[in-house]
Amino acid sequence: MTKYIFVTGGVTSSLGKGIISASLAKLLQARGYRVTIQKFDPYINIDPGTLNPYEHGECYVTEDGAETDLDLGHYERFLNVPTSQANNITTGRIYQNVINKEREGAYLGKTVQVIPHITDEIKRNVRILGQDNKYDIVITELGGTVGDIESLPYIEAVRQLRWELGSSSLVIHLTLIPFLAAAGELKTKPTQHSVKMLLEYGIQPDILVCRTEHHLSVDIRKKIALFCNVNINAVIESIDASTIYDVPLLMLKEQLDHIVLGKLKLPHKNEPDLESWKDFLGRLKNPTAEVTIGLVGKYVELPDAYKSIIESFIHAGAKNECKVIVRCVHSESINAENVADRFKGLHGVLVAPGFGSRGIDGKIEAIQYVRENNVPFFGICLGMQCAVIEYGRNVLGLIDAHSTEINEETPNPVISMMEEQKKIKNKGGTMRLGSYTCDLKKGTKAAAIYGKLQITERHRHRYEFNNDYLEQYEKSGMVASGINPDNNLVEIIELKNHPFFVAGQFHPELKSTVDNPHPLFVNFVAASLSHSKKGLNK
Ligand code: GLN
Repeated sequence: MTKYIFVTGGVTSSLGKGIISASLAKLLQARGYRVTIQKFDPYINIDPGTLNPYEHGECYVTEDGAETDLDLGHYERFLNVPTSQANNITTGRIYQNVINKEREGAYLGKTVQVIPHITDEIKRNVRILGQDNKYDIVITELGGTVGDIESLPYIEAVRQLRWELGSSSLVIHLTLIPFLAAAGELKTKPTQHSVKMLLEYGIQPDILVCRTEHHLSVDIRKKIALFCNVNINAVIESIDASTIYDVPLLMLKEQLDHIVLGKLKLPHKNEPDLESWKDFLGRLKNPTAEVTIGLVGKYVELPDAYKSIIESFIHAGAKNECKVIVRCVHSESINAENVADRFKGLHGVLVAPGFGSRGIDGKIEAIQYVRENNVPFFGICLGMQCAVIEYGRNVLGLIDAHSTEINEETPNPVISMMEEQKKIKNKGGTMRLGSYTCDLKKGTKAAAIYGKLQITERHRHRYEFNNDYLEQYEKSGMVASGINPDNNLVEIIELKNHPFFVAGQFHPELKSTVDNPHPLFVNFVAASLSHSKKGLNK
């Protein structure tokens, strides 16, 4: 029978429930359990797909094309197992399902209410992942902080599920133990209050994970245990770490997995096998070289907007035993006069995905510079589209080449909207989303990098390379090295006479994990490393 773990948060947001959930899942997986993680988000949007990155950071796309919370990226990076739509549910989706059922007449004349109808729908979505014996353990993370009005139906659903599932479930409460510098002390009161609030809602947490900047003494642990009705060994210290990838080992040291298995009455099986994880950490922490890579985008003030790209560089750096310093360059700040100066000291440049016209000119300038100066270049989605526009304008002489996303009237629409997109009016969930197959051309860089001729990658866009121009581009040296076999869409372009100039219409950053660093990132970092060794661009 599947076991369920619920993770709630107290005191403040941003304590890292996603990382704690992913770390626990990693430890349980490393002991041989099949684990998945689910996140409930208490906002009314159906999914984060329509949210501005400034609001919500990156939108993470799953294999099945769900637009989801960026925590799902952490789950995949830690577990190396794909997630799906079922792993991220918002309040909007819960209500939408209930309202649709009401319209179908499924409630037989009853008054539809938060309890039981909304809570039943939440419970149904928790249990969906436990069906078909796919997982031994389902970890469900509740977004928000205990006490938020929006979280109440979720907390109530967890109360009911705890009652129904008994010892097949447990609750982990993640809380903060602040350090008051003036008093020179760690303070437990906020934790006591947040546990008290959970108790008011009828939930006794089984385990407390305490975020802290300083080690918890035995006395502090005893005090927390006493006031919050948990065993002292269930008071887990979660001290600030230098990298999120340390957290599984810190949780192992605190025996979080051991305590969880004991409470769920599951056999401990083997000690967790974390050899490859430790090997990764060893490489990450002992780099033998260093490269600086420019990340050109328009959300650079907010690194969460590019979360998966930044994590992919960490994986690729470790693989190359090289520290990757990512220097963000605001695309709006780049122009023909300052680009050489702005890119001084960069050994490679990645042009980021994005939407709309803001910062486009800077991206195009950036690409012209790296193309002409042989600086390794990697373009993702909008980054690839800008590379096509730049090449059209400056090499093919199509001076007004553009994407119809930016200029609908351009005489040379080298990037244009896909036919099937033209009739779509709604914005939510209507892009080309999720995993698609791509055939790689023999003898190209892409084929060498992937080491095979067919791949799948995840997409999120409406515009595409316009195949009317393909022949012209290929003749002059920009090769379409990846093509979708079902509809002939160009998925990868590369330049023949350049050390590394590769760009994809898809999002490789969504598939890079600790166990499986993405080959495009690994090779781009390697190319940047050899560029740095040439001593150019100082
Ligand atoms: N705005 C572009 C499109 O919709 C690129 C999207 C992206 O970079 N994810 O095609």
